[in-house]
Amino acid sequence: MLLLMAMGRQTITAQDYRGASLLYNGLIGAVSGGVGSVINKHKGQKWYKAFAKGFAVGAGGGMIMYGGKRINSLISVKSELSYGYLSRFVFDMGNSIVENAAANRNFWEVVHYDVGFIRLELETTKLRFRPRLMASTFLGTVFLATQGRFDVPTSLASGTPTFRTRTISYAPRLNGSTLTNGFLLNDTLRHNLFFYDIYAHEMVHTFQFRELAGINQFFNPLKTKWKERSTWYAKLSPWIYGDLNYELYGLNYFLINGGPEGKHYCRNFLENEAEYLSTERNACDFKAH
Ligand SMILES: [Zn+2]
Repeated sequence: MLLLMAMGRQTITAQDYRGASLLYNGLIGAVSGGVGSVINKHKGQKWYKAFAKGFAVGAGGGMIMYGGKRINSLISVKSELSYGYLSRFVFDMGNSIVENAAANRNFWEVVHYDVGFIRLELETTKLRFRPRLMASTFLGTVFLATQGRFDVPTSLASGTPTFRTRTISYAPRLNGSTLTNGFLLNDTLRHNLFFYDIYAHEMVHTFQFRELAGINQFFNPLKTKWKERSTWYAKLSPWIYGDLNYELYGLNYFLINGGPEGKHYCRNFLENEAEYLSTERNACDFKAH
């Protein structure tokens, strides 16, 4: 991952970034899948067998996550927000596979699709459907709601909560900002080419916020213990999903990538991934953020 972060040179082409992004997403899936699978290893299962299975399945899921991110370019190329539903579906299927790999389950066992702060979850083996509240995403969305007005038509068109404001109070230089699974956009951004480019870029950020979801499954043995010890936790846990991936993305973005201010922005892998995958430009050519 660190090797990929070092790639933020301006001479790198869009094609290089697509390759790096495919590798980055594949590796995230593989490593979180492999490690998670060992943590959640079955009784009698050899740890290296659990790791190999989780690594391989997770790599496949990660590459599908890359495909979902890449589909966001259609929003910008076709000037059409509804491609957001397609990109989200593909990404979420990849993300589900990575989570299943990390939980040491069959890759199809639990499938989810996230709408705002609600995770629509289907356990395919039991055909049990549940909407679950994602705790960190909920708090992030509440914060966005305090910063702007809910833009209903845009949110429905893209399948992603979008808020509007005159100026983004915590980052006045920016036209758009992504927090967890929602956006805060400037009022000045109207439906022109610039708008679709920014929207596609921000969509990649919401996916980056979720790419580390496999790590949520590392806590499964701990959760099983909590369920045994607390009836309160056992009753609540099916309806609430601990989405630590959002905090982990924050660490990845600010600590490893040194974003978002100043010279680091241009070298930030996550900013370049968002911009190259959505518009094939370098992050520094166009400061959407
Ligand atoms: Zn950005």
